Amino acid sequence: MGLLSEGSPLNWDETKRYADHVRKHGIIQFLNIYHKVKDRQKDVLKWGDEVEYMLLSFDHEHQKVQVLLHGEEIIHELQNRGEKSNPNHPTLWRPEYGSYMIEGTPGQPYGGTMADFNTVEANMKFRRQEVFSLLKVNETICTITTFPRLGCHQFTQPVHEPKPVESGASKSLFFPDEAINKHPRFSTLTRNIRHRRGEKIAINVPIYKDRCVSSPFVEKFVNDDGEAARATKPDHIYMDAMGFGMGNCCLQVTFQACSISEARYLYDQLATICPIVMALSAASPFYRGYVSDIDCRWGVISASVDDRTREERGLEPRKHSKYRISKSRYDSIDSYLSKCGEKYNDLELTVDDEIYKQLREGGIDHLLAQHIAHLFIRDPLTLYAEKINMDDANESDHFENIQSTNWQTMRFKPPPPNSEIGWRVEFRPMEVQLTDFENSAYVVFVVLLTRVILSYKLDFLIPLSKVDENLIVAQKRDAVRQGMFYFRKDIYKAGNPVVDGCACTQNGIDLDSEEYALMSIDTIINGKTQTASESEESQMVLNILQSLNIPTSNLVMEWSLVKRLKMVRPSTLL
Ligand code: ADP
Ligand code: MG
Ligand code: MG
Repeated sequence: MGLLSEGSPLNWDETKRYADHVRKHGIIQFLNIYHKVKDRQKDVLKWGDEVEYMLLSFDHEHQKVQVLLHGEEIIHELQNRGEKSNPNHPTLWRPEYGSYMIEGTPGQPYGGTMADFNTVEANMKFRRQEVFSLLKVNETICTITTFPRLGCHQFTQPVHEPKPVESGASKSLFFPDEAINKHPRFSTLTRNIRHRRGEKIAINVPIYKDRCVSSPFVEKFVNDDGEAARATKPDHIYMDAMGFGMGNCCLQVTFQACSISEARYLYDQLATICPIVMALSAASPFYRGYVSDIDCRWGVISASVDDRTREERGLEPRKHSKYRISKSRYDSIDSYLSKCGEKYNDLELTVDDEIYKQLREGGIDHLLAQHIAHLFIRDPLTLYAEKINMDDANESDHFENIQSTNWQTMRFKPPPPNSEIGWRVEFRPMEVQLTDFENSAYVVFVVLLTRVILSYKLDFLIPLSKVDENLIVAQKRDAVRQGMFYFRKDIYKAGNPVVDGCACTQNGIDLDSEEYALMSIDTIINGKTQTASESEESQMVLNILQSLNIPTSNLVMEWSLVKRLKMVRPSTLL
């Protein structure tokens, strides 16, 4: 979750009072940054991963595994032995939502050489070893996306009983507040999300039905004041706390682009890849001790921080809320940022009109202005009494307050004020894998993919509504093998004029009725193998294309051209 501000957090009513203040100054801070660094060029590739870890405790005698609530002490020790005693220490450690969680990153971002790629796994191994050396026998550090028994009776070490009282942070029937990180930011986030929403958060995950599961599957909850009975759905695993989502672990990659336009191009291109890599990394079938019918955490975490009021969710006519809002603040992106993305922006975008105006008048183009004005429909969730009045020219806390609590599949990150850091993009959909080998493979794959996209000027863009459909498919059980995803048929646009960092569709040759088709992940990643007759056909088409002086240097294009030409004029061509 990044670095933590220190101070006295305000409660929801007080925070709400300052919401417009935070938004207004957040935008001023963004404009100041933008105008200082909008023309920065030639920043080199730097990048880094973020891995979230769980601490676990084994009771071999009773065959029990519990989450170990020692994250704060471990972080303290890791920082003291690491970054605080040596600025070149190879690792950085940060607190995370769960008191049983910690987050580790490389000490310095990696660079763009092959040698850098080769150090990723070793750095991850070193991190694990560093933590391991601080643990006792029967304790371990683990990279699993969800702890299978999270929220079950006595799932923590030490044991705490949940106290579902109004004065608590989450009021959960299952997840004790002691399992939330002790830093006030986390309990305040939890409490303020619940207060803003007007009720406890509610997560319902479909249960996996085998012959031992009753039909319908309906649970009764002890200590329920009626809220759980209303919120739970039959045949679903019900969860009622932020910890069930934010208490899961993920794997993220941030990389620096050479300029703002390259960052906008990569943000868009990678947005289409999010559902694919999410399904490839799917690792979370278990919730609250049950086997679920999904294998991906995304929807769970999305619901776990859904602070929208009933009016914003469209459950009641709008009286007090300013907008109807279609998604949780943890969800997929809602608009592309590059010029080529514009025509695929087919999702209805709720924006704060005042802020959009403020941005346009401040010299921001339409696409970027609507992106920021969309993020800024949200309220700040935490605010510190000491941090209300900021130096807008040199600080960005109010901007970051809203930006960093829009937890989307991709994040477009402006440089921090007065820093050497360039424009960055964060890739956020991946689930964490069990081993360092796998985690390093996933992050290296994503970074290499950005290099391929840039070198070959690839174009993966499809309408954003189709990317959203893909994201739903990605979370279904075994989507990696069975799911069909919309993907662009012709991804190769090389040789076309590059505008705003991306190559635009070539006029004339676009004979396609539809630019995208449903494909399996196997086809998307490995390509399609041609049958003997298909490859004979493609050779014929190649010959024709060559005789017409149409470039045929890329196989992907050749094959999709074969299909396109076949589709359009089968009789004349073949
Ligand atoms: P978050 O807000 O997601 O917690 P951070 O800013 O803490 O993100 O950093 C996330 C990742 O960015 C880390 O892996 C870090 O190594 C990497 N990183 C740090 N500096 C840069 C940079 N200049 N360019 C790209 N990545 C960087
Ligand atoms: Mg982080
Ligand atoms: Mg991050």
